[in-house]
Amino acid sequence: MARNDKKSPPDTSSRKPTPKPAPKRAAAAAESGRKAEQAAGKKGAREAVPAVPEAARRRRAVANAAAALAGRDIAPWTPAEVAEAFSRFEAADPEPKGELDYVDPFTLLVAVVLSAQATDVGVNKATRTLFAAAPTPEAMVALGEEGVAGHIRTLGLYRGKARNVVELSRRLVAEFGGAVPADRAVLETLPGVGRKTANVVLNIAFGHPTIAVDTHLFRVANRTGLSAGKTPLEVELGLERVIPDRFKLHAHHWLILHGRYVCKARVPECWRCLIADLCRWPAKTPAPAG
Ligand code: SF4
Repeated sequence: MARNDKKSPPDTSSRKPTPKPAPKRAAAAAESGRKAEQAAGKKGAREAVPAVPEAARRRRAVANAAAALAGRDIAPWTPAEVAEAFSRFEAADPEPKGELDYVDPFTLLVAVVLSAQATDVGVNKATRTLFAAAPTPEAMVALGEEGVAGHIRTLGLYRGKARNVVELSRRLVAEFGGAVPADRAVLETLPGVGRKTANVVLNIAFGHPTIAVDTHLFRVANRTGLSAGKTPLEVELGLERVIPDRFKLHAHHWLILHGRYVCKARVPECWRCLIADLCRWPAKTPAPAG
């Protein structure tokens, strides 16, 4: 969803000391085979990001989408159009879910922190053994940096992520009684946690109507003209202004899943898009021949 991050909030008893995570993953929306896509970057990771051609292509596609709309005279969406678009998303998928496995706010927070430069599938594979070994902040601290690294070494930037996970766990134990705070400003003070991660945790774990802008959502918002912006924050604030309150809780998942499976980075599948008639993207992809 994603990726941009830091730490945040005040909460309470988010954790359940459950040894083995029972996947809460949601069956992906409708679409076909999912390709490993990745979330946006988080802060805190200090290792060099390896050059990944696919990631570079994605970034270019996002930049192109933003550039194509920048300066273009696009009719803003009317409130009726926005309501229509989200009504369609709601009808197609009334209870959208993310695809990271977790069992409580703590494991969700860790999973999202690990998702930078990694796919949800890769994160889920790593956290299966990590959460079995350390399902609570206390256990994560006891496991230590090397221990955490041993479970997540298949993920990019794993050393920096291991450092962040142990340090944020230590902070949760020392300052919040081991609970995840449900407050964005507080969450953003945790290592490896930025605004995007904080928004994901607030939305999924605490039911706040936050909109976490990752690379998919950034692309969709710019392409459609729903909220054009040069930064994730601009896009997030724009979406908050135009999306009716009744759709805000699920807006984040609807738009991310739409970007992941339909409005793809390289070739958006406009011919089967349920908001094609509303979208302002000027170069819609025609249906494949045959
Ligand atoms: S019409 Fe195409 S560009 Fe517009 S939202 Fe749908 S898939 Fe994306």
